Amino acid sequence: MSRTLQLTLLFIAPLAVLVGVLAAKGVFPVRDGGYEYVVRFDLPGANAPVDLPRVDGPPDASRPLVVIDAGHGGFDPGAGGGALKEKAVALQIALALREKLLAGGGLRVALTRDADRFIALADRPDIARRLNADLFVSIHADSADADSARGASVYVLSEKGSSQAAERFAERENGADRVNGVRLSRTSAQVGAILLDLSQRGTQAKSTQAAGLLLRELGDAGVGMHRDRPEAAALAVLKAPDIPSILFETGYINNPDDAKVLGSRQGQQALADAAARAIRAYFARNAGV
Ligand code: ZN
Repeated sequence: MSRTLQLTLLFIAPLAVLVGVLAAKGVFPVRDGGYEYVVRFDLPGANAPVDLPRVDGPPDASRPLVVIDAGHGGFDPGAGGGALKEKAVALQIALALREKLLAGGGLRVALTRDADRFIALADRPDIARRLNADLFVSIHADSADADSARGASVYVLSEKGSSQAAERFAERENGADRVNGVRLSRTSAQVGAILLDLSQRGTQAKSTQAAGLLLRELGDAGVGMHRDRPEAAALAVLKAPDIPSILFETGYINNPDDAKVLGSRQGQQALADAAARAIRAYFARNAGV
């Protein structure tokens, strides 16, 4: 069964049961408050791996491979209550970044999604692992209660958030994987064990290095910055134990100034440019990865 079909069934099944229950109630009226209904259904094919995306660039497996992950997608819009949606902004920046990396040559690039479709959180780093990627970059935007919050941040994985705001951000992002409380990922949140693994393999140091390079490029590009140091949080999407991974939070979608940048082609290009330069600098420093 295709994944789209599985997900469609996942949403149609409870609806069908509800319609059935309401119909039954119409036929056999019950006294008020007489019944509670519990609907149970198995998540279909939860262990089936998602299809691997296309790898662009030189047909040479020794070339570094960057997996770019546009956050959210499909029924999960991400942040943004108005016309501008995080899932669309992330995809536009991811597509622009792929174009820039390929134009520069020498690197291979794959996108976890290149269209408006849903991918479970755990499947995203899993795609990078199965492709044997050298770097994983997840692209997101944020929103905050106060529209004064603005600017870009870069996150690496951590058991505990580097600030309360970072912890809340991780809660929001990890929540993308739940639909009506049903968790769609297969892996549990055991960040502690993964971090130990990361430090043993030196992956965490490389993630922090990549995050630092991206912040430097963003600063040089004059893109508004929320934090000028890498943030850390228990982000489910960064849990590939053997692949340096960063989350690029490109700005606050509910801040009017940021929304102008995030929603415009010019702004998206500037963010993608900074990321492309940072990724090149990262591979220049880690020759032979
Ligand atoms: Zn997001």
